[in-house]
Amino acid sequence: AVADAILQLDDIEVIYEQVIFAIKHISLQVSPRSIVALLGANGAGKSTILKAISGLVPAQRGEIVQGKIYYQGVDVTQATPGDLVSRGLVQVLEGRHCFGHLTVEENLLTGAFVRRPSARVLAQELETVYSFFPRLKLLRKNHAGYTSGGEQQMVAIGRALMADPKLILLDEPSMGLAPQVVEEIFDIVHQLQQTQGLSFLLAEQNATVALRYADYAYVIESGHVTQQGDAQTIADSAALSDSYLGAS
Ligand code: ATP
Repeated sequence: AVADAILQLDDIEVIYEQVIFAIKHISLQVSPRSIVALLGANGAGKSTILKAISGLVPAQRGEIVQGKIYYQGVDVTQATPGDLVSRGLVQVLEGRHCFGHLTVEENLLTGAFVRRPSARVLAQELETVYSFFPRLKLLRKNHAGYTSGGEQQMVAIGRALMADPKLILLDEPSMGLAPQVVEEIFDIVHQLQQTQGLSFLLAEQNATVALRYADYAYVIESGHVTQQGDAQTIADSAALSDSYLGAS
């Protein structure tokens, strides 16, 4: 494993139902305190990459048939989601997945369950999350199911923060959100990187926005990496090929 990468994938291959190759020969890296984007069209394999990392592939009746995943230099290829969360690697699933019948604050508190901090620490951590998402503080007693899509995305990221993460995997954070709300979400991701030193690996069909905030990007097509480079470099080449990047 490369010494200074927080996350490294070496030649990962995932198949579903013993037949469908979802991703092939995927190698990538995330440096500490960086934002890395996985770009590509619907079905390219971005979600499968994230789920392979976070240990969710077996739950979807798939398996990693080749390759290694290293997190903080440790081989976590076969680690369970719970084990990874307790080590600080947390995924925010596509579609946000809030508990609609719980309040915003109750949703946030579920994020801390693996660590069981004291009530005092928990209260401090909630305040930290609220400092990044002031809107969630105002909504804290509301049922999450009655908040807007953007607010639910904030809840989902806030809940991940309550696990005291070092690396957050974000699947399609912009999905279904108005452009202004997308900016707001990415802006907070950027702040979390800058002020808390967090790393992000995010899957996005909206390449235009993702490349404005990312440090580095990988373009995924049919389960393969077809391009990689500094976000600026990819953005310059993407201008020529918006259609296959699926920019919206
Ligand atoms: P999306 O943005 O829709 O999530 P994606 O780029 O993340 O797209 P994946 O969801 O990773 O793509 O899908 C990659 C390939 O694997 C697709 O061909 C998909 O049909 C297949 N696939 C994904 N999940 C499963 C599953 N549980 N069982 C069988 N095939 C699957």
